[in-house]
Amino acid sequence: MADTVRSRLLVTPGAKFLFSRRDPDDKLGWEKEAAKAELIEVKAKITEIQYRLAAESKQALLVVVQATDASGKDGVIRNVFSGISAAGVKVSGFKAPVGDETHHDFLWRVHRVVPAHGEIGVWNRSHYEDVLVVRVKNFVPKAQWEKRYRHIREFERLLVDEGTTIVKINLHISQDEQRQRLQDRIDDSTEGWKFRLGDLDDRKLWPEFMKAYEVAFNETSLAEAPWYVVPANRKWVRDLAVARIVLATLQDMDPRIPPPDPAIVGVTVV
Ligand code: ADP
Repeated sequence: MADTVRSRLLVTPGAKFLFSRRDPDDKLGWEKEAAKAELIEVKAKITEIQYRLAAESKQALLVVVQATDASGKDGVIRNVFSGISAAGVKVSGFKAPVGDETHHDFLWRVHRVVPAHGEIGVWNRSHYEDVLVVRVKNFVPKAQWEKRYRHIREFERLLVDEGTTIVKINLHISQDEQRQRLQDRIDDSTEGWKFRLGDLDDRKLWPEFMKAYEVAFNETSLAEAPWYVVPANRKWVRDLAVARIVLATLQDMDPRIPPPDPAIVGVTVV
């Protein structure tokens, strides 16, 4: 279904994306109280379609949430997907690879947890780390990471061809908003657990990370697996925008509840 917000936030495949053309403070024309009320309605609609998706069990939805520290990945996942059947939504997070993960290609650990038909998979960070932090910090040689854009495109096309719809969401905050949120984590003893000193090293590399994100979007925003850049300085805008992108995508997927087995029609349970 057409949703003007969805098309406005899309990283148009083939067009050059620049963060400087997007405003992380954008309210998308919304008012806070009305947006909070609308989020409840949108979530109810997502819940209804998720039921049909599970019943049909022929297609899956993968929602990739990939963004910088303190951009609100955990918050948006909680606010958009809480209340939807736990059996139908699987959230996976990806930190620096450990153990077996370090002995395989970079797509191994993500391929193992792609959603099954009937499921919604939500990824908190993703295979994109392997062209973001890995590129910025030179964790592998350029000759290796530069091929990964192609590997990612081909991997995602494989998933799409086999029945998975993919949406990739970036939460766009400003550098100043990140500073404030990291400071809040340090100052609030109940939030301090979220803070790692390494976050400050990554913050120093902000321009390099933004550049790496832009390259990743330009290389991998495909018509069949698009990127959306969501203004995220305001949490209520972020939440409704993501929910509407997810809802519009599920409406396009239009899963159908299968008809009952004709053999059960008229059967009396004794
Ligand atoms: P959060 O996602 O809540 O910020 P952490 O603070 O533990 O969780 O951050 C996870 C860290 O793991 C991030 O710094 C991220 O860049 C890093 N990471 C994720 N995937 C990879 C990867 N493939 N290679 C190197 N580092 C990675």
